[in-house]
Amino acid sequence: MREWPLWTLRRPALAYWLLVDAAALAASVLAIVATERPTPEEIARFSAIAGTAGAVIIVSSVYSDRVGEIARNPWAAHLSYLTAGLVALPGNLLVLLLFGPALHGLLDQRPEVHRWLFTLSSTALAVFGTRLAIGWEHPTTGRLDVLVLGATMLLTVRAALISLGLKLRSPRAPSEEVVGEPIDVVLGVVAVSIGGLMGFAALATAVHAVVAGPPLALLERAAQLPHWRRSAQRDAKTGLANAAHWDGRARYELAKARATERPMAVLLLDLDHFKKVNDLVGHLAGDAALSAVAGLLNTSTRRGDLVGRFGGEEFVVLLPDAEPAVARSVAQRVRHAIADLQVPTVRTDGHAHLLTGLTVSIGVSTTQRFGYELPDLMVAADSALLAAKSYGRNLVEMA
Ligand code: GH3
Ligand code: MG
Ligand code: MG
Repeated sequence: MREWPLWTLRRPALAYWLLVDAAALAASVLAIVATERPTPEEIARFSAIAGTAGAVIIVSSVYSDRVGEIARNPWAAHLSYLTAGLVALPGNLLVLLLFGPALHGLLDQRPEVHRWLFTLSSTALAVFGTRLAIGWEHPTTGRLDVLVLGATMLLTVRAALISLGLKLRSPRAPSEEVVGEPIDVVLGVVAVSIGGLMGFAALATAVHAVVAGPPLALLERAAQLPHWRRSAQRDAKTGLANAAHWDGRARYELAKARATERPMAVLLLDLDHFKKVNDLVGHLAGDAALSAVAGLLNTSTRRGDLVGRFGGEEFVVLLPDAEPAVARSVAQRVRHAIADLQVPTVRTDGHAHLLTGLTVSIGVSTTQRFGYELPDLMVAADSALLAAKSYGRNLVEMA
């Protein structure tokens, strides 16, 4: 228990996550105690909703497995049938429905159990809160406007609870990691819409819940989209933006900056004698060093700075609002930090090895001298980098 990654959370995040978990547990117990025994009709509705959703999730995850997709928690589908439950089930069966995502987390054996538990608890709280708002005993009674209000509340309360937790966990995280990307919001809206359909169908006749099966299956497929997009943008080894994605974002930022003549700078970094690391310690150690450098670049730059992996052992950073003197001092700071890096790794003979003595050469170009066209800035930074190499390496050169 002591080695749980939960305890590595910053104190405010830890307090908040535990509070959300405890509140969700208390709310679940209350919901069970405060609800009458379900009628056979309600049990039939529950079976139809849970059965349809369960079948779709199982078939979809078997399919994902067969085509080699990365396993993920089907939150869109979970949200769908929870919405159906909000509309059509009594409180205690709604709690039972929450066992769906709970079971999924258990079976999946995710490395960050506390994170998944926090998402589940936030979802449970949003579900109970919404149910209270739309009527605990007789929700919606078939009214579409109440359903729309409830669905909106479910999504916003859930998003607010989760993003506050993520913000407390890493205050510097980019907004798309905290509140999700627009596509995540779209998927959430589609999920609750399908859920509403499922709930209304089940209210008419329990077995009619199956009409939501096909759209739910399509939603499950579509829910892969953000993952596909993210993996197309990220470099798998370091998690940084890959060259193509960095290029697009850098051009966009430069075009924006040109309008207001904000000063920008490009840092092009190339690790020194990196081939030796591979040759002397091994390629695994080389990879570990690249990841460590990527992590360092992320933590030692500002929030709006754009860090990317340019290629092999070359990295690139776009610094918005950076005068030449600022860009130089950022580059020097990065250079010193890399020289101080200690990377625990394993040698080719299997022995542990602490990799030290990495150095980097950095070429810096600025919009003040080279304008706002990315190719011009890159050519200038590259020639400054070559100069740094020729002057002996472990240096910063301004173009
Ligand atoms: P210098 O830049 O100081 O001139 O020397 P260098 O040895 O770093 O230069 P060079 O560009 O010749 O070699 C870069 C090396 O980086 C070649 C390759 O072995 C290594 N490298 C590139 N990408 C990776 C990677 O993804 N993993 C590992 N382990 N090594 C990589
Ligand atoms: Mg190189
Ligand atoms: Mg190199």
